[in-house]
Amino acid sequence: MATKYDFGLIGLGVMGRNFLLNVSDHGYSVAGLDRDPEKVEAFANDTEGKVSLSTTDAKEFVQGLSTPRKIMILVPAGQAVDAVIEQFESMLEPCDLLIDGGNSLYTDTNRRMKRLSEKDILYLGVGVSGGEEGARRGPSIMPGGDQKAYEMVAPILESVAAKVNDEPCVAYMGNTSAGNYVKMVHNGIEYGLMQLIAEVYDLLLRHGRLSNAELSEVFEKWNKGRLQSFLIEITSQIFKTKDDITGNSLVDMVLDKAKQKGTGKWTSQNAMDLGIATPTIDAAVSMRQISGQKDLRQSMSTGNRYALEEYNLDKEELINLAERALYFSTVVTYAQGFQLLSVANEGYKYELDMEAIARIWRGGCIIRAAFLEDIRSAYQQKPNLPHLFANAEIRGVLEDNSSATRNLMIHALQNRIPALALSSALNYYDAITTARLPLNLVQAQRDFFGAHTYERTDREGIFHSQWG
Ligand code: NAP
Repeated sequence: MATKYDFGLIGLGVMGRNFLLNVSDHGYSVAGLDRDPEKVEAFANDTEGKVSLSTTDAKEFVQGLSTPRKIMILVPAGQAVDAVIEQFESMLEPCDLLIDGGNSLYTDTNRRMKRLSEKDILYLGVGVSGGEEGARRGPSIMPGGDQKAYEMVAPILESVAAKVNDEPCVAYMGNTSAGNYVKMVHNGIEYGLMQLIAEVYDLLLRHGRLSNAELSEVFEKWNKGRLQSFLIEITSQIFKTKDDITGNSLVDMVLDKAKQKGTGKWTSQNAMDLGIATPTIDAAVSMRQISGQKDLRQSMSTGNRYALEEYNLDKEELINLAERALYFSTVVTYAQGFQLLSVANEGYKYELDMEAIARIWRGGCIIRAAFLEDIRSAYQQKPNLPHLFANAEIRGVLEDNSSATRNLMIHALQNRIPALALSSALNYYDAITTARLPLNLVQAQRDFFGAHTYERTDREGIFHSQWG
């Protein structure tokens, strides 16, 4: 009898090829399919000597899999996923399982899941984070959908996932599109953290006049402390990397235009729909948009108007402020993301476990960081914590570092160094920890021009007044 393969994967690109090699390394026989013969050949070469199939032939692929089939799709999010489903659904049988491992919009996953359930085809929406290296050596995996469907692939996903203290960085997230939703918020947090790091870099570079070698050392040192994280680690390495073409630091040769695929924007959009503020993530999305307007920026540039006056800057002091502000704003960004998850959990009835999310984000994924241990501990102490700032230890850390953040902001403001994400983190903190905001005036204005009514501070009820 011909070999039947344990696990199939459609889309042998960056993520798919590496993820499937990882599955193969863990002793499973694998089948890979891509429409591009070159990728199929490359995968065949990579798996030479292992029990595997690599093909462009959909029929051969489907027939080669043991039943019920377990097939992961790792093609670009959006239409390509629909095209793959359309191509394969008629070849599948009831109880076969399709797993979308891409960054699909969670509403697309709900729609696909519903449609396939009419044919008794099981469907999981699974967030996979860690990029190329993570997919190959151990990603963080966020599966959502029917729990029984998850159990069909749990042993495979647990074996390929990153491990932290022997715990696999995978856990069932919840029903329907929970996995894609959690991955979307993961990416939103990722946008925020990357922008914060970029703003701190700008301050150290333009205001502190640190060289790339010094920047590398600073980030390397930070990575040994409480800021320890994947993003800080790679940033240190980026500053060390030389350009093969010019011999300059490679980072200086990269155009200051950051692209995006949409997950940060979706996070901000959805947070607004749910009535939750995520201003640091919003700022990160806005800064990528502003960065894209390079020609306009250039035409309106004020030139090097920063650092107007001579000053006696204490570099070490600036680095110290930067470390504290980066830690402060990092904590704030995670808090915004986790509050969004909590609110979405109620709204979409996902049954998310916040502690499990913090646990599986500790390894394999792009936002892995030492601080996730503190988040995990906060949710262990109180699973239904309404906001991470309500945890006494986390609040203490923020209080300890908020004045340093304010001081760093003064440097940024006085020197015209834009720090939208850093300042939004600070302003968000100040706003959400303030009992009284000036929004009484906004409500008064609304009532003035639109008879939108208002509530009073001294009695129950809804009121409308003639103003002026
Ligand atoms: P990729 O490198 O572009 O690979 C996608 C592969 O799918 C390509 O080989 C593509 O072939 C193939 N494909 C597209 N449509 C197909 C179809 N109808 N039938 C068969 N094969 C098809 O993309 P990727 O970076 O691996 O990303 C895959 C998913 O993972 C995306 O949702 C992405 O957002 C997500 N993701 C990526 C990363 C990352 O770091 N790259 C990290 C986490 C998540 P062609 O080249 O011929 O189009």
